Parts: sequence; C-alpha cells; structure tokens
Amino acid sequence: SASLVWLRDDLRLADNPALRAAIDRNEPVVVLFILDEESPGFRPLGGAARWWLHYSLASLTERLKSVGASLVLRRGPAARVLHETVTDTDAGAVFWNRRYGGAERAVDAALKDALRAEGREVTSFAASLLHEPWTVRTGGGTHFSVFTPFWRACLALPAPRAPLPEPRAIDGVRRSPASDDLDDWKLLPTRPDWAEGLRETWEPGEPAARARLRSFLTEDLAAYDDARDVPSAGSTSMLSPRLRWGEISPHTVWQEAIAAEGAGGFLSELGWREFAWHTAYHRPDLATRNLRREFDAFPWPRMKPTHLSAWQRGETGIPFVDAGMRELWRTGFMHNRVRMVAASFLTKNLLIDWRHGEQWFWDTLVDADGANNPFNWQWVAGSGVDAAPYFRIFNPELQAKKFDPQGLYTTQWAPDTPRTPIVDLGETRKAALAAYDIVKRVR
Ligand code: FAD
Repeated sequence: SASLVWLRDDLRLADNPALRAAIDRNEPVVVLFILDEESPGFRPLGGAARWWLHYSLASLTERLKSVGASLVLRRGPAARVLHETVTDTDAGAVFWNRRYGGAERAVDAALKDALRAEGREVTSFAASLLHEPWTVRTGGGTHFSVFTPFWRACLALPAPRAPLPEPRAIDGVRRSPASDDLDDWKLLPTRPDWAEGLRETWEPGEPAARARLRSFLTEDLAAYDDARDVPSAGSTSMLSPRLRWGEISPHTVWQEAIAAEGAGGFLSELGWREFAWHTAYHRPDLATRNLRREFDAFPWPRMKPTHLSAWQRGETGIPFVDAGMRELWRTGFMHNRVRMVAASFLTKNLLIDWRHGEQWFWDTLVDADGANNPFNWQWVAGSGVDAAPYFRIFNPELQAKKFDPQGLYTTQWAPDTPRTPIVDLGETRKAALAAYDIVKRVR
C-alpha cells in the first residue's frame, strides 16, 4: 500500500500540508501531477503558463529526487487518471490541497466520493489561500463584495498558520508507476520559439521563488509603498507566477513579510489575491459573465479586429499602452499600473469587450490566474465587484506623466512607437460614457 499526493497548484515541498500528511502516514509516497485539459469546464492553459509549468515541473522533479522521491506525470481527465494511478499503486490514502474554481471543485468532490466508496482514505487541506473563501463572512453571514471590509474581516480572523517545514527525506515507492516524459507534453513553444524574453526574465521553481521573496524583502520592500506604482522602478515582488503555481505558499510570504517593518501595503496586495478568489468561489462564472448583470446591456459596437490586433502588438500609438503590451509579449509580465491603463484603453477607448482582453492576457501572462485575471479585468471594465466607477476613465497620457514622468519605462519598451493614436482619446471617452448611459438606465 502507498500514500498518494496529488499536486496541482502547489508545486513545492515546503509548507505543503498534503505532502506532509502523506509522509507522516509512514507508507511509501507517490507524488503525482496530472496535466488535465479535458475535464468539463477546465480552461486550457495559455502559452506563457505552459512555458512556466514546464520549467516548474522540471525543477520539482529535481527537488523530489534529491529527497528520495520521484514525480509521476500523467495526462488526461483527472477523474480517470487519478483513479488509474491510485489503482496501479494500490494507494490506501490520497492527499491534496484544495482548489477553489467551480470546475475544479466539481472534479475534486466527485473523486473524493468515488475513492471513499472504495474504502480509501481521502484528505484535503487548505494551502493556497490565507483564508478559505467560506471562512470570511459579513456580519449578515454572506460573502463580501467590497474589498476594504473583506480585508478588515480577514485581519480580524485568527492569524494565518505558520508554514510547515520542508521535508528532508521522502520514502518514495520502490517501483514507481509509469510516468510520461515531460518533453512529450510539448509545453514549450518550438516554431516560432517566442520564449526568449521569458527565459531571460524568469527562473521558475521553488528555490528561485524563495530566493526572490528574500531579495524582495531585504532590497525592495522599504520602497514598495512609494514606488509600487512606478513601472520603471522594479520595486514589486514579481511573486505572481510563483503564487499562481504555488511554488511558494501565501503563508510563507505572509510570515516572512509580517516580520519586516512596513509591510502593510504589500500584504494588502496579497489581500486582493484573496479577494479575487473569494469572488471566484462565490461567483464561479467570473471569467465569462459580467458580475454586475446590468453590464449585459452594454452596447459594445461591432469590434474592429484591426484595433484588437494593434492593441495586442503594442501599436496603438499611445506610448504607455504600447510599452506595456510589448513588455507583456516579451517577458510574459506587465506592471500592475500599466495593466490597468492598457485594460482601460481596450475597454473604454477602443470599446472592445473585456473578455477579449482577458483572453489575450490569459494566453500571454506567466501569472495568468483563474481568479486574478478576470477579476481585475472586470474591475477595470466597471462590471466587477467593488470596481472602479465607470466614469473614471484613465487618460493614458496623464497616467504616463504621473507614473513614468521621465519616460523611462516607455523608452525601454516602446522607443519607436508611432505617436499617432489609432483613436482620439477625447472622442472615444465621450462614446464610452454615452454607452454607459444605457447600462445606467438598466440599473
Ligand atoms: P506585488 O505588487 O509584489 O504584489 C504581491 C502579490 O499580490 C502579487 O504577486 C499577486 O499575487 C497579488 N496581487 C497584487 N495585485 C493584485 C491584484 N490587483 N489582484 C489580485 N492579486 C494581486 N495578477 C495575477 O496574479 N494574475 C493575473 O492573471 C492578473 N491579471 C491582471 C489583469 C489586469 C487587467 C490587471 C489590472 C491586474 C492583473 N493582475 C493579475 C494583478 C496584478 O497586476 C499582478 O498580480 C501584479 O502586477 C504582479 O506583480 P507582483 O507579483 O510584482 O506584485
């Protein structure tokens, strides 16, 4: 008999409660990752996320080997693949850390029932959020739809638990079950190989995530509150893809940051991640439907595909937006302030439905996240919870003056952008406000 750990969004050894529980059971341990693109409702990973996943799994394989275990890779719908692996290895107990998306929860719940019906032990754990979505409640017992009281309620809950230490040794099964070869999954781009900028920018995997947390806390945190909105300052943590794949746990980030002076602003950004997942849990159609249903009446004009592609390529003639879109294409990342401005330009100046922008980000961001991405798009578009008021339309030129006054960021990423905007900012702003009038009438 064996204990099986099924890793999903938690590609780490440290502070991994499911892995810890499997080890503590004192049976040989099987560690499994399933590439599941087939379960109903699962969103296929974007290109940049697949790139990240490849290297993160390669790193995890090495780390597991160094403590005595191997990583079993399998592909297919989890309901079938997990079941097969459990049977192959005769696992008496199965462990995983919980996920919070609607489709994922459905798969996990069905599996839990099926495995238990066969007499196997199944245990799941809280690991990927500081507070699970159902534990944060308003006085009236409902979920939150405004960030500030949500975060206040989180801070009033018992503090997040201390992270668990990293296992020194794992008693792996003697005869490891068959595993796919990672290269056969073809997660990396080949022709064309667009990942050069990603390779230059990132090192996926748990050791690099921990190193980045440490360097951020010692070198950048002090300037964070003042400089976090300045895209050329490079003062933010760059932890987002690491948190997305769980190479580092929010508990570890929390514990190490809280010990540092002046971490409140940074910690509340982690709070936005919690809030996005709180929202996704309670509104599982976050990525596809307007949270504020009156936005269903928004009169999107017929989309001009040339506008969408100009935006995607960073050829809008608005230097700050173009710089952001090119940073994204080159590195798989865009600074948060520029994400907001680029998203606002797409939805309010080009009047293109936020779902098109969300999908492009989903495909190109290394941190593409099932909750954070659609949540923030809806926030910018005005259709989300606690969203920016619709009429506060960012002026990308004023934003550039304020947050990139010397043009450092714009020159770095878009030195040669055409300076003739593809649309007139004033005219399109008026058109957006007129369209919004119709939504207001529905309310
Ligand atoms: P830091 O400033 O160091 O923040 C620390 C952590 O807090 C981040 O790693 C992230 O996990 C979390 N965080 C920070 N800001 C937010 C936020 N607004 N919402 C939710 N969590 C936040 N973030 C993603 O992780 N994945 C996405 O797919 C994503 N899509 C976005 C789309 C749009 C249109 C916008 C406006 C924002 C999006 N964000 C997304 C949020 C934010 O831009 C990134 O989390 C942030 O830029 C990552 O950089 P960092 O790790 O250096 O952030």
